Amino acid sequence: MKLLSYRHNGRDTFGAVTGKGVCDLAPRAGTRTLREALAKHPVAQLAQLAQGAAADARLDDIIYLPVIPDPAKILCVGLNYEAHRIETGRDKLKYPVLFTRFADTQVGHRQPLVKPSESDKFDFEGELAVVIGRRGRRIPEDRALDHVAGYTCYHDGSVRDWQGHSPQFTPGKNFPATGGMGPWMVTPDEAPPVPAMVLTTRLNGVEVQKSGVSDLIFSVPALIAYISRFTELAPGDVIATGTPGGVGYVRKPPLYMKGGDEVEAEITGIGTLSHPVIAEGAS
Ligand code: ZN
Repeated sequence: MKLLSYRHNGRDTFGAVTGKGVCDLAPRAGTRTLREALAKHPVAQLAQLAQGAAADARLDDIIYLPVIPDPAKILCVGLNYEAHRIETGRDKLKYPVLFTRFADTQVGHRQPLVKPSESDKFDFEGELAVVIGRRGRRIPEDRALDHVAGYTCYHDGSVRDWQGHSPQFTPGKNFPATGGMGPWMVTPDEAPPVPAMVLTTRLNGVEVQKSGVSDLIFSVPALIAYISRFTELAPGDVIATGTPGGVGYVRKPPLYMKGGDEVEAEITGIGTLSHPVIAEGAS
């Protein structure tokens, strides 16, 4: 099942994709948001609520919101593909590099990513993200996938000069409207196994990143196990698992996103997340 958050007729809600439409799950689940629904119902139960239901809106008529518009936590993993670690010249690490994003940096599918006026170094990063469905602390690696509600595409748009002001990535990863999430999340029963997924990023139709997600240095279960040792993972929390090689700032010459560009991140078996890019303040 594909679950998503969206706006229709001026109202924010969430639902399940059925054919070319979407079935509004808010009244059926008895919650206002997908995050609340994941906290209230096991994800398989949400699938049952949508079963046989007619579409309430056409996909063409909705505004996509980030799959989880209001996660309590967004944890991002840096340098989690060997090719990307090598291209950035960093040493091998024993533990994952983690940083956080604020929820209000996110936008949904087809909504613009915004290049801030502070920088011309706005870089692309296609990623696989995991949405947590079941609460847990100190989750053993062999049980970690039981805590996953679904998989989605993520665009971890990065303002490189601000990312590099200090050893902490936070400023460069938290300008408004720099993180794309969507179009939907696919529940584990319908998603391919993570190692079988292929991630492709395209800028203006040209492939700029392509990698098997099997190349992750720290796997999804390893990340969930590690992160849940220091913080409790809760329904709706998001883990963006890192970007593969091919990012723009290490290219010669560098390749950055600018106003008027189109960028997309596709994951086989999940979907394609697309955004126009606009420059802040441009008219
Ligand atoms: Zn990233």
